Amino acid sequence: MEYISTRGSAPALDFEGATLAGLASDGGLYLPRDWPKFTEAQIRNLRGAEYSVVASEVMKPFVGDALTEAELAEICDQVYGGSFSHSGVTPLVQLDAQNWLLELFHGPTLAFKDVALQMLGRLFETFLERRDQRLTIVGATSGDTGSAAIRAVAGLDRVEIFMLHPEGKVSDVQRRQMTTVRSPNVHNIAIEGSFDDAQSHVKRMFADADVNQTLNLGAVNSINWARLMAQVVYYFYAALQFGAPDRKVAFSVPTGNFGDVFAGYVAAKMGLPIEKLVVATNVNDILQRALTTGDYSARGVTPTITPSMDIQVSSNFERLLFDLGGRDGAALTEQMRSFDAAQSMQLTDVQRGGARDLFLGVRADQEQTARAMQGAYQSCGQIIDPHTAVGLSAAHDAIKEGAIDPLVPVVTLATAHAAKFPDAVERAVGVRPGLPARVGDLFGREEHFSPLAGDYEATRDFVLQHAAGSAASSSS
Ligand SMILES: *Cc1c(COP(=O)(O)O)cnc(C)c1O
Repeated sequence: MEYISTRGSAPALDFEGATLAGLASDGGLYLPRDWPKFTEAQIRNLRGAEYSVVASEVMKPFVGDALTEAELAEICDQVYGGSFSHSGVTPLVQLDAQNWLLELFHGPTLAFKDVALQMLGRLFETFLERRDQRLTIVGATSGDTGSAAIRAVAGLDRVEIFMLHPEGKVSDVQRRQMTTVRSPNVHNIAIEGSFDDAQSHVKRMFADADVNQTLNLGAVNSINWARLMAQVVYYFYAALQFGAPDRKVAFSVPTGNFGDVFAGYVAAKMGLPIEKLVVATNVNDILQRALTTGDYSARGVTPTITPSMDIQVSSNFERLLFDLGGRDGAALTEQMRSFDAAQSMQLTDVQRGGARDLFLGVRADQEQTARAMQGAYQSCGQIIDPHTAVGLSAAHDAIKEGAIDPLVPVVTLATAHAAKFPDAVERAVGVRPGLPARVGDLFGREEHFSPLAGDYEATRDFVLQHAAGSAASSSS
């Protein structure tokens, strides 16, 4: 399988190359050259299979020749047979006749990002061994990516990680899950500013010639294709349990960077019958506005009780615009350039029309989010996290509006464990969710992080000073 850039001018890469590159050299994001398609019979054949088997079958066409079938199956078996606390990996929980939760938080850091990042850590290790190279990961996190990425690579020989988080803007649990991991290859940086500031430093570093001369940079944000690929799996796994391909399913996805819900789009492209993908946003609703009115314009970030969705711009939306717009890299480059200049642009009619078939943007404010937490607790004793609650609130609204057939099950992605956001949960339902035993003594362990000023240079200099170096040890 070949991977091409959304901006049209970076060289095409194979799966191994796209996994190690992260962002394309022309500033675009990698996508497979075409979508692999499963027949109904192929989908039916996966019914009843274990998660790790569904994982390796769904990922196989994307991986192509980069791994043998046996290698891929072994990695899936290690990751999904070993790193999750539930043998179903991503179990479904029923809420009422039409609504279900897909619990994606049974990994080591209690959020859905573990599902893909545990896989990505193994892929990095395999590919870097093979190439005899090292990789320096620089990432920005609004909380959950950072902890999941650090847990996925801590202790690996060939990878080091610099993770930026906006100081004071991630929850205590999220921060401690990053800063209490002690490993010589892990560097936590707390910068002054917002998540978008941190993310823009990371983007700039990828384009900085000085940095690239010394370091072989890699990405763990959802700009990395391999992450999205690993997330396609649970759409299949859930839909199979409802009888796919013979029955449709709708999904409601708490959305920030548009990675998770884009994986749902990929599943649909591959032939999984998906009725609707509800793009659930909090009051930082650029996506809801873009999908509803075609107006894609950034506004300031409003902090909410769902910090992992507090973003101004969603990087993966570019992948959708590229695919819907006929995969015209030059046109998309122009569109994104005009967005960068004005912080605002219009979707084309073709892009809007294409999105309307599958996506529905729904927004939930703080009160609606709290009400969804209360509803789940009162009607079925489920304590859900605020991000999940945004998704559930959006699912209820979509059903109420008649946007989803009453006979179609609606699966809300439960993206985090409630204990990651105990204050907001306690305020809404009056119960403080306890951390599961598997996270251990999180609040007793010492924290390690470096606070830095908000300017780009401070971050760049820190990384250059503290990196063990990577280009030096290889010839590429
Ligand atoms: C990252 C995250 C999201 C948003 O996912 P995207 O792929 O960025 O859209 C939602 N909920 C939680 C708990 C998250 O950690």
